[in-house]
Amino acid sequence: MAVKRDYYEVLGVSRQASSDELRRSFRKLAMEYHPDRNNGDPNASERFKECSEAYGVLSDPEKRRSYDMFGHAGVGAGAAQDFGDFGFGDIFNTFFGGGGRPRRRSTRGNDLRHDLTIDFEETYRGVEREIDVGRQAVCSVCAGSGAAPGTSSVTCGTCAGAGQVRRQAQSIFGTVVNIVTCPTCGGEGRVVKQPCARCHGQGRTEERKRLRVRIPAGVDTDSQIRLTGEGEVGLRGGPPGDLYVVIRVRAHQHLRRQDDDVVYELHVNVVQAALGDRIEVPSLDGPVELVLPPGTQYGQTFRLPGRGLPNVRSGRRGQQFVVVQVVVPKDYSPEQKALLRRVGGLTGKPQKVSKGFFEKLRDVINID
Ligand SMILES: [Zn+2]
Ligand SMILES: [Zn+2]
Repeated sequence: MAVKRDYYEVLGVSRQASSDELRRSFRKLAMEYHPDRNNGDPNASERFKECSEAYGVLSDPEKRRSYDMFGHAGVGAGAAQDFGDFGFGDIFNTFFGGGGRPRRRSTRGNDLRHDLTIDFEETYRGVEREIDVGRQAVCSVCAGSGAAPGTSSVTCGTCAGAGQVRRQAQSIFGTVVNIVTCPTCGGEGRVVKQPCARCHGQGRTEERKRLRVRIPAGVDTDSQIRLTGEGEVGLRGGPPGDLYVVIRVRAHQHLRRQDDDVVYELHVNVVQAALGDRIEVPSLDGPVELVLPPGTQYGQTFRLPGRGLPNVRSGRRGQQFVVVQVVVPKDYSPEQKALLRRVGGLTGKPQKVSKGFFEKLRDVINID
């Protein structure tokens, strides 16, 4: 499969493009590539699909935010509505005003949230998980209509199908006319005379479904992955909401995460710090050797480039910081004490530590 192009690139706009710029750019491209204007040329139709998809995502603030954070993975498969099915006029009505198609009055289903905990290692590689979701789905008996098999819903008598009614009320200002949602049909314009026995006229029933979620490498705790249309279905055939999979990443045994970087605290003894040593430290790729130079100080930080986590958008890996902690044992044998006294006598007074541990760490991390 071809690599998906960046949506901003597809529309030829910058990442900071306003919704107006997006719309202008999409309008131009849609005019150019719409299949009706290109005698069904497959290349044009591909381009048309591509920019419709890009616009579909970027014009929705929530989808756009998700895309900015996670790239294509963030908006999920099927996230992009396929506007290619619309006629040429529809596109313009839908996006650029002019009345558009009559709105469906059925209500959209609720969004759902599913919490998912993954291991630190899984955020490093990315992972595919199966989740079981309980939700309201289309009733299989009435196919979502809410009407008993063999019957159908009828136009609401109260509002004559408009979904709204006018109400007159007396107030201190005189007679006021309010337009309110029809109380009989709840705004749907149709009522079910003989409700389906299985769903009691709701058009939906509880079901459990197993879904596959692709979790991109680099996600962090509180990252959200949106599965478009996998939320609850609406009442009586209303469109479904979305399912948000909210990620929690378990802590690593040794490594602490800091954005795309990881921090490891290396404990060494006084002799290793003084004389230097070669030490194996854990990394996401397995143990790596670190050369500790003689005279290593408490809090000194070493950098292992490219050993961090992959950035969820670019895939580029951060770095690993190894922070040295010199551990001083509490108990010494008489010989050790004697030796240390001799060493102490030879080295004189310690130099003043000019900066605290976290200041130093911050200095190193901010170098970039
Ligand atoms: Zn039913
Ligand atoms: Zn009504």
